[in-house]
Amino acid sequence: MSELGAGMPPGPSSPGGALLIREARVVTPVPPGFGGRDPGLAAPASPMAGYLRGNRQGELRVMDPADVRIRGRRIEAVGPRLGPPSDGIDERVLEAGGRVLLPGFVDAHTHACWAGERMGEWEARLAGATYQEILAAGGGILSTVEAVRASSEEALADALLSRLGRALVHGTTTMEVKSGYGLTGDAELRMLRAIGRAGDAWAGEVVPTGLLGHAIDPAWPGGPDAWVDHVISEVLPRVTAEFPRAAIDAYCEEGAWSVGACVRLFSAARAAGHPVRVHADQFRDLGMVEEAIRMGARSADHLEASGAETLRALGDSDTAGVLLPVSGFHLDGRYADGRALLDAGGAVVVATNWNPGSAPSPSIPLALALATRENGLTVGEAIAAVTWNAAVLLGLPDRGWVGAGARADLVLFGHRDERELAHTVGENAVDVVVAGGRVVVGNPVAGESRRMR
Ligand SMILES: [Zn+2]
Repeated sequence: MSELGAGMPPGPSSPGGALLIREARVVTPVPPGFGGRDPGLAAPASPMAGYLRGNRQGELRVMDPADVRIRGRRIEAVGPRLGPPSDGIDERVLEAGGRVLLPGFVDAHTHACWAGERMGEWEARLAGATYQEILAAGGGILSTVEAVRASSEEALADALLSRLGRALVHGTTTMEVKSGYGLTGDAELRMLRAIGRAGDAWAGEVVPTGLLGHAIDPAWPGGPDAWVDHVISEVLPRVTAEFPRAAIDAYCEEGAWSVGACVRLFSAARAAGHPVRVHADQFRDLGMVEEAIRMGARSADHLEASGAETLRALGDSDTAGVLLPVSGFHLDGRYADGRALLDAGGAVVVATNWNPGSAPSPSIPLALALATRENGLTVGEAIAAVTWNAAVLLGLPDRGWVGAGARADLVLFGHRDERELAHTVGENAVDVVVAGGRVVVGNPVAGESRRMR
């Protein structure tokens, strides 16, 4: 926990005023479209929503020292030694003193909406059972499905909101949250509504995804094919009616959704106007990544078992590769070859995959630490993977970078060298989090002075 007491209630914003973060070491991806101009000094601009990719993904801009002025929900200016606000309004000043300031983290792959816990299953795994043996015995995803089906929308939203708070103190200001533990139309919609409700109450922003192809309902008459038919003809249209912009996702794996079932679901989802994403190659390279590329999927996530040819094809496509190294850490020590994907020109995103079974962590800094050690990313590539590239994947190019015009989602760390963020493990070095222009973590009074008109 930070020295500034991250458990404190949200700090006051600056209604009608400005907030200045003074003398920070600002480290930021530079979105394509700035033409090499300094994003801090440029006029407010809308970056092109293209990924940083290949061996240029890790080229970050460092401005040290730099001041960042926030007005309302946006960053107004970034640069060395900004003078007082031109219109003379009140300005709160937070002294960064050379500490590292990054864009707020965008966690683009989580299953943070769940009910029940799976500690018994974890103990069984520690005693030697495999993840898939547990799944076959009705544990794993299906035990969470049972608990979610027994929960009200309100209970799901409350539990998620409390988890969102835990992610916020680790620097996450935007989080994608998937449904997928309900399976039936009623339960999936209840999850999506709970995700929306928790997001409305949170200081950051939540992006819901309909994970309609997560597991096969074992109780459904007619077996897997009949279940897939049901999801496509009955569940998907209800999600389209209520959440028309949500991405649709599926878990392609033996014992879960087959490649053919995913292709059918995604064809229907695309026809209804949804972007699609897919969990692919976690345990076996089944050919789903190639299908995902062909169908224009936004991302293929996991990739632990992807072969060299698969990664080359992905690197050469517009589909992002999402690495989830916390799963390898928690499950079986297998990690996606992120280096091969970048060397093939790919766009890489890193996320927590936060869920109660295979990735029990809300911490993007932990994912960064693992991505540099196990996925072959440099620190710069890993930082771009949890900021700008993750924002592009979610269709939110107003964040994930620090510059004039960007949404004011910022994290100030105790470090003075951004490499420490991935180097140090098990410490929460977040001192201050700003979300949508408001100080929401950390004590805004400590290290602060006030510049009056
Ligand atoms: Zn997942």
